Amino acid sequence: MSVQYNAEQPVPAPPMIGEDMGFWDGVKSRQLVFQRCTGCGTWVHPPRPACPKCRSFDKEWAPSKGKGAVHSWVTYHESPHPAFKAPYSVVLVELEEGVRLISNMIDTGPEEISIGMPVEVVFDDVAEELTLPKFRKVG
Ligand code: ZN
Repeated sequence: MSVQYNAEQPVPAPPMIGEDMGFWDGVKSRQLVFQRCTGCGTWVHPPRPACPKCRSFDKEWAPSKGKGAVHSWVTYHESPHPAFKAPYSVVLVELEEGVRLISNMIDTGPEEISIGMPVEVVFDDVAEELTLPKFRKVG
């Protein structure tokens, strides 16, 4: 089971502005990318102007392996938005690069989600102009 959307409601899109655009440009081309400091190599997410470790403003958009594990999750038993059908699970995935991303699972019901579960990214075309990075269970 994946996220169930209510067909009569437009799916709300995340804001795609400013520092975030490199991330969303990657998603549009079905690649998961994160900021990486070119000064010290620290991966940074969410995007921000300066490296949280060395304060450098020099960074690049670097491809993630797209693999990680569920760090935490929550399941809404009542819909948090008219576009989403309950039960609706939101996962916090820690990628192998060390950054965390809030997302949803694909083909994984709420009862199957557990902390530490290995996952990999998939790209879900949820609307004509909206692709979102989501995760599926591996192993
Ligand atoms: Zn740095």
